[in-house]
Amino acid sequence: MPDNRFFYYDHDACTFVEVEPSRKGLWLKAGAILCLSLVLSAVGIGVLSTVTTSPAEVAQAEEIDALRGQLASAHSQLTSFSDELEDLAETDREIYRTVLNAEPISEDEFQLGVGGAEDSRFARFSTPTAELLTETAETFDRLERQLQLQSRSYQEIRTLASQRDAVLRQQPAILPLKGARLTSGFGMRFHPILRVSRMHAGVDFPTPVGTPLYAAGDGRVSFVGTKSGYGNVIEIDHPLAGKVTRYAHLSRAADGIREGSLVRRGQTVAYSGNTGLSTAPHLHYEVRLLNEERTPINPVSTFVPDVTPAQYRELVEAARSQTISFD
Ligand SMILES: [Zn+2]
Repeated sequence: MPDNRFFYYDHDACTFVEVEPSRKGLWLKAGAILCLSLVLSAVGIGVLSTVTTSPAEVAQAEEIDALRGQLASAHSQLTSFSDELEDLAETDREIYRTVLNAEPISEDEFQLGVGGAEDSRFARFSTPTAELLTETAETFDRLERQLQLQSRSYQEIRTLASQRDAVLRQQPAILPLKGARLTSGFGMRFHPILRVSRMHAGVDFPTPVGTPLYAAGDGRVSFVGTKSGYGNVIEIDHPLAGKVTRYAHLSRAADGIREGSLVRRGQTVAYSGNTGLSTAPHLHYEVRLLNEERTPINPVSTFVPDVTPAQYRELVEAARSQTISFD
């Protein structure tokens, strides 16, 4: 057991005298040792922490790496979605231009470049992280704009397509009777009764009295009655197509057909006859523009979608060669 007592030599008494340690001194000494220990510990921990990492820190670093990797992969996927959307937008522009014959949404609106400046929200992160987060945020913005444009574009295409569909349905396009055989065409023709050459504003299809006659396109019946020379007539307006069709020398209108009736293409609207200035039972069929002058056009040009190329050639040839109309 170590002897912790201290002595000093008293010259006067010629003897060693034990030093009595004061309580205050003891406390001071203990305090100093404690402070020194604390300082040394703090320095030690500081030094250690710079050269070693705790398991929690290792786990955190791994988590950050995984998140960064996932973010990079998400960014790459977003970029490829954005590219695919751009391809779809290009297809849209083609549909507008070629199928719908309309102007696509302004090219300017498809300019999707977003500023390249680093987002200030990420400024305090490390450069690679800040760049990745900025790029991802930009790609999200781009995708959002692309999706909005795409959605608007589809709505417009749908509207245009349905308008186009309505126009097409009103277009006089089919032959107005079955087994049509055209015997007199459109243009200057010799009138068989008036014995003069005059404009024949339609085409003649010889057919027995009572043959069902069809609406050539969707429309609204605008006239049912008689007209000088034409005999019994019905007229159908096709306003979206800008045309009116006229059926003349009829025996009668079909049941339920009166002015204002809405008719569908192919619907029976009248029966052929031999009324008015007519030399034989036939249908005189006209297609006119729905303008003030009601300019007649050659009905043969409207049959194109309804006949085969061979039938069309035959109709054109017949229309050209015949010189006398049935009127
Ligand atoms: Zn005629």
